[in-house]
Amino acid sequence: MSDGVSHEPLKVKIAGMDCGSCAITIENSMRQLPGVESASVSFATESMEIDGEVSLADIESRLIELGYRVAAEEPKAQLQIIERRGLSSFLEFLWQQPPLRRALLVAVAVIGGLVFLPDMAPVAGIEPLTWLLGAAVVIAGTPVFLKGLRALIFARRVTIDLLMAVACIGAVGIGETGEAVTVILLFTLGEALEAFSAERARDSLRSLMALQPQEATVLRVHAENHGHDDAHQGDHEHQVVLPVEQIRVGDRVLVRPAQRIPVDGEILNGTSSINQAPVTGESVPVRKTVGDEVMAGTVNGEAALEVRVTRESSEGTIARIAKLVEQAQAQKSPQERFIDRFARWYTPAVVLLAALVVAIPVAAFGAPLLDAADGTRGWLYRGLTLLIIACPCALVISIPVTVVSGLTRLANLGVLVKGGAQLDRLADVRVVAFDKTGTLTHGRPQVTGIRANECAHPADQNDECNSCDDVVAAAAAVERASEHPVAHAIVKAAGERQVAHRFETAEQVAAHPGRGVSGQLSNGVKVAVGSSELFADDMRGWEEISPHAQAGRDSGETVMYVARDDRVVGYIGVQDEIREATRDALEQLDALTPSVDTVMLTGDNRQAAERVAGTIGGIDEVRAELLPDEKLQAIETLREARGATAMVGDGINDAPALARADIGIAVGGGTAQAMETADVVLMQDDLSQVPLALRVARKSRHLIKQNIALSLGLKLAFLALAVPGIATLWMAVVADVGATLLVTLNGMRMLRQS
Ligand code: ADP
Ligand code: MG
Repeated sequence: MSDGVSHEPLKVKIAGMDCGSCAITIENSMRQLPGVESASVSFATESMEIDGEVSLADIESRLIELGYRVAAEEPKAQLQIIERRGLSSFLEFLWQQPPLRRALLVAVAVIGGLVFLPDMAPVAGIEPLTWLLGAAVVIAGTPVFLKGLRALIFARRVTIDLLMAVACIGAVGIGETGEAVTVILLFTLGEALEAFSAERARDSLRSLMALQPQEATVLRVHAENHGHDDAHQGDHEHQVVLPVEQIRVGDRVLVRPAQRIPVDGEILNGTSSINQAPVTGESVPVRKTVGDEVMAGTVNGEAALEVRVTRESSEGTIARIAKLVEQAQAQKSPQERFIDRFARWYTPAVVLLAALVVAIPVAAFGAPLLDAADGTRGWLYRGLTLLIIACPCALVISIPVTVVSGLTRLANLGVLVKGGAQLDRLADVRVVAFDKTGTLTHGRPQVTGIRANECAHPADQNDECNSCDDVVAAAAAVERASEHPVAHAIVKAAGERQVAHRFETAEQVAAHPGRGVSGQLSNGVKVAVGSSELFADDMRGWEEISPHAQAGRDSGETVMYVARDDRVVGYIGVQDEIREATRDALEQLDALTPSVDTVMLTGDNRQAAERVAGTIGGIDEVRAELLPDEKLQAIETLREARGATAMVGDGINDAPALARADIGIAVGGGTAQAMETADVVLMQDDLSQVPLALRVARKSRHLIKQNIALSLGLKLAFLALAVPGIATLWMAVVADVGATLLVTLNGMRMLRQS
């Protein structure tokens, strides 16, 4: 298998990267393999994607040449939430890094030497302490040197390891052996610390994937009936514990109280409150009973449940989320690519600068190469210090660590963002357009008014009469073939009035998107139901129904007319409830600085739309009576007039608008379609995740800017100190490692953002 030549992008997990620029080194070197078209390595997820005709074996051996490994796929059973918080686990992690282990032993030996050696006689004319320090440089420095050499040979890239080694050799050469030791020890410690903090960031993604339990208790019925020898008091059901991978659709699974639900399914038996927070971020437990769907990874409450499996674990919600998040994290944003490119020339440029700093003063101005007796630094030393500053690590890591932490944090809160580029665009959003039905409102309208033109009752008591029943029945006959929320309401109303049987389901039903439906009854009569846009103005019956329809609109109804052949025969009014979180969400959006405009887009009539907007409050603008392609145009004009526009919709009938917007946000996600079309999927039916997502994206942008400024600023400061000979080698290492740690920790603040 491993020799198979591949045409699909190959995905490889890499072990042994300890710094963001390792990813660039590996990318460089992979691109030089014959057959490779493109390679993208993500330090954040320790993964690589390779395009082209190349075998896994070639990739593997190249990785080994460079000093890395292909990581074994983590066996699922071992995926647990790894908490690396305590000091002991921190030290344990550090101890597991071989170079650091070696460095620590060297450090102990050097300290011992400092205490005991100074009084001993010189060996071969050299102080014993100097011998010891020299040995220390060799022992601790060799791995660094080799790694640098490998990168040079196989990736044609000058890496920090090589520069560090050159600086050390140089330092030994000018008699600063002690400093060389300090530099190499600090550097090794720094690399290990970086690896540790990156590992911490990765842990939170793993914890997301670890949500799904590994095993489930499956209920099985005995194939044969041996009543007498059945241990289970005569029932022929028994329980087997199986790994989730072996569970199939249709299996029945027992979930005990307080247990995590192992698979997606439907409740067959029992009522319990389910804590969905791990998957959707929704903190209030939801009461679920027979017939309701439950998701893998959510936590059962007080009662045992019997659940029929509806999706195998590999296709379940958790698996999809984990896959999405992992893909999102591995994808590089445009800025990240820019920084990567920048890093590629930054290092050689600084190396050149270092060479010039040594050569020009010495050759052109006769400045001293070596340190003077009074302690003034020679120009060689200053050049060596610059070499260390050439490391782009802090810069390279500053974006991905922030983005990955932000994406992970959002995923934990139930907001799935497709990638770093989307997170970045989200930070630019200045207009949020909401679809009305199903987004601002529940999308479960109820019929609240019916009136037939021929209604026998006076206008103020237009309720039950035979003509009105006929209007609903005829409308329901066409709406039975429609999926629109309004259609459901009309069909339901017909059922409640027990008139659904009056007409068979209509034939030749045609949907007129954003307007209504039409069809033909079995008696040949053509029936149409929809907004006024659906009908010609010259139809008969308008005058009779208009005042009633107007009264309905005034009370906030969405009005649909019903026509038989070329005559309007009545109207049906529906109302939809506003979602609880809508108001709160709009208030939060209002509170953002810089501010965002909120716009409602709807195909509903203007009055109903204005009314809904009025009840919600806080919507800046209402655009009503839009046909589906007019919604697209509306988005287009918003983008042109006011900047980046996010569209929030239910993801099912709003897919085109979601795709056209700068950022498409699907609410109440989890459906495969929503996950595909939208840039952001909200797992909850909770619009307040919209302002949350915007806040997190803006914060992430802010931290990225901070990080870039921090890492470049420190470099510049050191440059300014190194040239006049103020900065020492070890200071340069501390600054370098310190900058990397600072940006990493700063980026990881996203993990707590909300
Ligand atoms: P929204 O923008 O609120 O999601 P749509 O664009 O789906 O609304 O529909 C706009 C209007 O068209 C609805 O308010 C309704 O009046 C009418 N309509 C659409 N589909 C139907 C249908 N199946 N039956 C009756 N009326 C419909
Ligand atoms: Mg809609």
